[in-house]
Amino acid sequence: MINPIDINDLYFKYKFSSDYILKGIELAVSKGEILALTGLSGSGKSTLLNIICGIIPHIRKGEVHGEVKLWGENIKDLKIADITKKVGIVFQDPDTQLFSPTVEDEIAFGPENLMIERKEIGNRIDKVLKIVHMEDYRYQNPNNLSGGQKQLIAIASVLAMEPDILLFDEITAQIDDDGKKRIKELISDLKKEKKTIVLVEHNLDILNLADRVLELKNGKLKEYEAGE
Ligand code: ADP
Ligand code: MG
Repeated sequence: MINPIDINDLYFKYKFSSDYILKGIELAVSKGEILALTGLSGSGKSTLLNIICGIIPHIRKGEVHGEVKLWGENIKDLKIADITKKVGIVFQDPDTQLFSPTVEDEIAFGPENLMIERKEIGNRIDKVLKIVHMEDYRYQNPNNLSGGQKQLIAIASVLAMEPDILLFDEITAQIDDDGKKRIKELISDLKKEKKTIVLVEHNLDILNLADRVLELKNGKLKEYEAGE
């Protein structure tokens, strides 16, 4: 069976740093699965997500050894545009991800870069705004939205590229309770759509949606044992 994500013996260290952060990661994530990653701050969770979406080594440099495959294709053989069609990542702070004058422009940006035609982009904007329940905000400036609403728009802009794999790196960390609740509902809707999701999350309600929890410790992934 070909998995959306397959990682074998992955080692990684950042350029200019002496120590490896990831030291022999083995990971297979199956279609429709929600995998949660835990681990102490600095254990390398964000680093791992950045490797899965190609930010490392395309944008942030370092030494990668081992194999990372998306749907059976080695990420080394994929261009960044092809990776973007397969994997979307959302970060903790939506302000780092939003830069357009309107919500609509923000969502159109990714598909425009993928050379998708105008009409189809319009359809995708309708569709993703509906998914995140933000139809009424289409012509607003993202700067005027609450933190939770901004995060929903950041997610919508990623969904507009129609990736089957979504990486959520502490996306509720700066969001109020109402925003957290909406993001939780959204993640369970995405699961119904058979999206594959890897998340780093501290909110227990959201963690409860995970099919599996793995802990990153000393550069390796292991089964998470609560209370350890
Ligand atoms: P986590 O997300 O689990 O908190 P990170 O992946 O952000 O961990 O960081 C893992 C380690 O890599 C930390 O020691 C951090 O200081 C280091 N690190 C993160 N980004 C860089 C970078 N761009 N260059 C060098 N070291 C980095
Ligand atoms: Mg992190």
